Amino acid sequence: MNYPLSEDERMIQKTARDFARKELAPVSLEANEKGIFPERIFRRLGELGFMGIMVPEEYGGVNLGSFCLVLALEEINAVCASTGVTMSVHNSLTNWCILKYGSEEIRKRLLPSLASGEMLGAYAITESEAGSDVSAMRLSAVRKGHEYILNGAKIFISTGDKAGAIIVFARTDPGNRTKGISAFVVEPGSPGFSIGKIEKKMGLKASTTVELVFEDCRVRADNLLGAEGMGMKIALAGLDGGRIGIAAQAVGIAQAALDEGVRFSRERKQFNTRIVDFQSTRWKIADMATAVEAARLLTYRAAKLRDAGEPCSKEAAMAKLFASRTANRVVYDALQMHGGVGYTEEFLIERLFRDARVTELYEGTSEIQRLVISKAVIEEFERTVPD
Ligand SMILES: Cc1cc2nc3c(=O)[nH]c(=O)nc-3n(C[C@H](O)[C@H](O)[C@H](O)COP(=O)(O)OP(=O)(O)OC[C@H]3O[C@@H](n4cnc5c(N)ncnc54)[C@H](O)[C@@H]3O)c2cc1C
Repeated sequence: MNYPLSEDERMIQKTARDFARKELAPVSLEANEKGIFPERIFRRLGELGFMGIMVPEEYGGVNLGSFCLVLALEEINAVCASTGVTMSVHNSLTNWCILKYGSEEIRKRLLPSLASGEMLGAYAITESEAGSDVSAMRLSAVRKGHEYILNGAKIFISTGDKAGAIIVFARTDPGNRTKGISAFVVEPGSPGFSIGKIEKKMGLKASTTVELVFEDCRVRADNLLGAEGMGMKIALAGLDGGRIGIAAQAVGIAQAALDEGVRFSRERKQFNTRIVDFQSTRWKIADMATAVEAARLLTYRAAKLRDAGEPCSKEAAMAKLFASRTANRVVYDALQMHGGVGYTEEFLIERLFRDARVTELYEGTSEIQRLVISKAVIEEFERTVPD
């Protein structure tokens, strides 16, 4: 897409694209086939600056913003959405929360290893009875002296078994549904922390999604982020950035599917005609390309607002809603253009089809994005349109 980028932004995009195509693609093929988590890839991403994109230089990062993260995520996700989700959660949720709400001591202790890719980050909100309804969470955190004691479990946590720093949301006040939640950094190795069920997923085969179990798990009191009771605010503020990251993931997957559709339909002939020369294919290509560019623009706008320090919950939700829907439509049409071979593991479109699905589910389902958007629209109306 022809979009005005600064020289630095263009360089970041090119570095990510070259890395994704030359280094990540071969590793990702095997990792996705065999369900292997490609640990060493994250060290390389760290060397390139992509594991600490928003982290200031004093903590080992490269001090760029959400927009640059989006540019990099698009390229990584076009090649491997498993790597993409790990990188997105790491940067836009873990690093960001530590930077924004962590004490100076926590920042100094954790951010350099996170920014170098030696340590990975995770973000744990979901519980068996608290999915879309975050305020129903029950994992408890009780203060005892210089520690909090955590009891309960989180499910579906991306990278939870590989991470060195996990942002865990827990209930510190059972009497207050939303203001009774607090955020902690849990470091595996804490007594009472273990990994439970490991999910077998439809896609994202080279990422891990696990249960985290807390049994009298002791966490240093100074690993509390912000103050007691700020957890819900932190969770939602983090998710604004997280949703922009998932929107970028969806754009990357959609672009890759469009490219695969065009590539295949130029090569395959039926009725002595290239598939790409049937008018029905051309129309599909036009609609797919237009939707991908619209999704990209919504994602770029949300990222730019976040970088400018402007409120962006509505825009992040719009970007995620539209980009994830687009990714699912585009993978469907691109697979259709392949015919039967699109349904086999020999063609990349089969993986893209499976990987796209989750973008409508995690970091808030599409239904939840619609709730966020409609609430903001109605509030805007009430504020700005006179009776
Ligand atoms: C691969 C993967 C990775 C994940 N990684 C993480 C992670 O790293 N950290 C983490 O905390 N979580 C993670 N999750 C969990 C994910 O965020 C939740 O699955 C998601 O928020 C939805 O919650 P749920 O699955 O409990 O669905 P539910 O909340 O039970 O929803 C079921 C259905 O009901 C709909 N619904 C619910 N409430 C409403 C409503 N008010 N109005 C209309 N419709 C509604 C939903 O949209 C959905 O269609 C991950 C999930 C997956 C699949």
